[in-house]
Amino acid sequence: MTLNDALPPPRALIGGDWVATPQTLSVEAPARGESLATIARCEAEHVDCAVAAARQAFDGELGDWQAWTARRRGEWLETFARAIEADAEALAMLECADTGKPLRQARGDIAACARYFHFYAGAADKLHGETIPFAADYAVMTLREPFGVCAQITPWNYPAQIFGRCVAAALAAGNTVVLKPAEDACLSVLRLARLAVDCGLPPGALNVVTGLGSEAGAALAAHPGIQHLSFTGSPATGTRVTQAAAVNHVPVTLELGGKSPQVVFADADLDSALDAVVRGIIQNAGQTCSAGSRLLVEDACHDAVLARLAERFAALRCDAGERDPDCGPLINARQREQLERRLDAAHADGIRTLAQGQLAEGAPAGGHFVVPRVLVDIPDDHAVLHEELFGPVLAVQRFSGEAEAVRLANATEYGLCAGIWTRDGGRQLRLAKRIRSGQVFINDYGAAGGVELPFGGVGRSGHGREKGFEGLRSFTQIKTVAIRHG
Ligand code: NAD
Repeated sequence: MTLNDALPPPRALIGGDWVATPQTLSVEAPARGESLATIARCEAEHVDCAVAAARQAFDGELGDWQAWTARRRGEWLETFARAIEADAEALAMLECADTGKPLRQARGDIAACARYFHFYAGAADKLHGETIPFAADYAVMTLREPFGVCAQITPWNYPAQIFGRCVAAALAAGNTVVLKPAEDACLSVLRLARLAVDCGLPPGALNVVTGLGSEAGAALAAHPGIQHLSFTGSPATGTRVTQAAAVNHVPVTLELGGKSPQVVFADADLDSALDAVVRGIIQNAGQTCSAGSRLLVEDACHDAVLARLAERFAALRCDAGERDPDCGPLINARQREQLERRLDAAHADGIRTLAQGQLAEGAPAGGHFVVPRVLVDIPDDHAVLHEELFGPVLAVQRFSGEAEAVRLANATEYGLCAGIWTRDGGRQLRLAKRIRSGQVFINDYGAAGGVELPFGGVGRSGHGREKGFEGLRSFTQIKTVAIRHG
């Protein structure tokens, strides 16, 4: 199949129908800076229709979603997971062209998307309430129920993976979904939605409204017809959607960014640590909420680590995703220009680039490439240590002893991930407890993206948990039923 054959038509999915909108948006290929496809530009009225369809499906007035038992939902999720796997090459090709990420990473993302559906397929009929031994003349139970219409607003960095994370869990728990994917990259999401319909998902159970954040996104977050909102993206937009949802008292799960530290002690296996440090910042060109963007190195191994890091970064090459480089382009000109401005400001403040990669020979002109680099000589209060740069830029600091490592690791408003590299078991546990973060990885970074593991942040990184069984529970609410039987 060619890329052109894989492109979805510019339509939104509303109540089981593929709907054209009066206006469309152009989607750019980040590796070339040229138009790749067009998508529907949904506005408030389309969001109204999508929320109404999701409500009708939930209430049993449209299609037969409401009649599906947990077991049947699980069976459908499994069928869909297999359909994703059967279509993996086309989906990966789309994801690669649309986001610019290296093809092998796009393939990994599609495999992870399918894995979410497998995982929640098995989990759908294992979700249940409890009984509570309250008093002799009572029988008390909790029912674990779906919210109803779940709104999901998702970003451009991992369109297919985040589709899996949010949609699989919400549907497994019996909700219906209105999804607003990012306007910068959503082609894989549209193809996934088409596959879902082809696999027999009842109309209205999943609706996809593409469009601008300020139009479709804002209308969805503020909609009085939604009962839950999941948002993944920037802290600023996270605040906006939370305020909009608060008007209707809608609960919100926020997965925002990070400024995650990798902490390397001198007793660590430095080869493994360095592999993970490099991977943790160049993956998806650093445009990952959980990117390990700060490296804290203990005095005793500082010079050795920096020498090895410099060698590794100098060998990195940037190119278009389909050539499977170390690092692809940034998503658009705005992100590239913003990063370049921040790097210029850092250099003007005396921060030094220790080493950097290069553009591969023959890399397409017009791509939004920023080569991966390592920054050193950074004052503790400098913005490059505190702001999420969302690019392949590693900021290095030096520490002496555990207390300073913890102080520096926690010196951020974010709290998404941390990597701790040490062979000392006591230290592993002490740091795991003292570092303020949703995830702590010891002698590892990211646990291979395991979909089974709950994921989420503290502080500016957001709140609520997705992934794993915890993620399934987060798409349900508890109803208490107390029966006084005398
Ligand atoms: P964003 O947060 O503005 O966009 C994320 C999603 O929110 C998109 O679907 C967008 O259309 C939607 N959106 C935007 N404005 C909205 C509004 N007013 N109401 C409702 N929905 C709205 O992110 P961005 O502008 O694409 O990127 C800016 C920065 O966000 C990046 O530099 C990066 O730091 C951060 N970011 C983080 C993640 C993450 O995974 N945590 C992902 C993408 C971007």
